[in-house]
Amino acid sequence: MKTRIKSIASLLVIALAACTWSCQKEHAPQSRQESQSVEEASSAESSSADEEEKPAESSIPDGARRLMKAYPDFVKGFENGKLLMADGSKIVYDDGRKKDYDQLLDEADPEDMFCMPYDRNNWHPTFEGALPQDPGRIRCEAFFKSMYGHSAEEVRRTLVNVPWFGQSVQITRLNGAADALRKVAEEIKGKPELQSYVKSSGSFYWRQVRFANRLSAHSYGMTIDIAVSKSDYWAWASKNHSETKRGIPYKNQFPHALVEIFERNGFIWGGRWYHYDTMHFEYRPELLVN
Ligand SMILES: [Zn+2]
Repeated sequence: MKTRIKSIASLLVIALAACTWSCQKEHAPQSRQESQSVEEASSAESSSADEEEKPAESSIPDGARRLMKAYPDFVKGFENGKLLMADGSKIVYDDGRKKDYDQLLDEADPEDMFCMPYDRNNWHPTFEGALPQDPGRIRCEAFFKSMYGHSAEEVRRTLVNVPWFGQSVQITRLNGAADALRKVAEEIKGKPELQSYVKSSGSFYWRQVRFANRLSAHSYGMTIDIAVSKSDYWAWASKNHSETKRGIPYKNQFPHALVEIFERNGFIWGGRWYHYDTMHFEYRPELLVN
């Protein structure tokens, strides 16, 4: 009996220590380590050497984990702070630099792509605090080029035609993007109220963003623009094209039901950006997976 009380007491002490340790680590990932520590405490044999040998799954940053989950054909692992890509390249996940908004747009690393959560409940993105809410607008070029291609020719080789309400839309077959667009079309077919929003004004187009020195998402073949006649775009509403101009009035005419169909299938919507571009849908499953 005495031994039992003693072992319960030592368990409590260890559990308490584990909790204190985890609370001190402000940005510790969701208590995985904490629960491991408590589990290990109940098996008296565990040693610190064992812990070091275990695969350090919890040390993979959340964004890197999402990239591996969303793009399993291309992101093969994470090692020493780098994404291991299928083409043999290694991409530094976090360059450690603190960037202003223009630098985030032009010099993003993969970690920067997750600096704003893509919130499917927020229908009115704003510019409060330091950054405009543009989740998904920040893209690491090296990352997308590694998957979809480094030139127009390379990307073009991955494109397939997807039937799209009497049109034919060119989308990359990689990462399931074309299949996802087919599913979007299937879902829209059953909804007559959405038919006037489907006409596509473009998909693949290798080009630089206007007034900027970076590639448009249309370059990678995983993006489609629709219903230009019902679209709103931040630069049409703002005389100066500075990325840090505040107070641009938000506009949108797209029904939420249409947006939700795209999002269910892995596409993010440009209407969720402070720098809104409501005709724009882009296949970015890493921002929609958990
Ligand atoms: Zn677009």
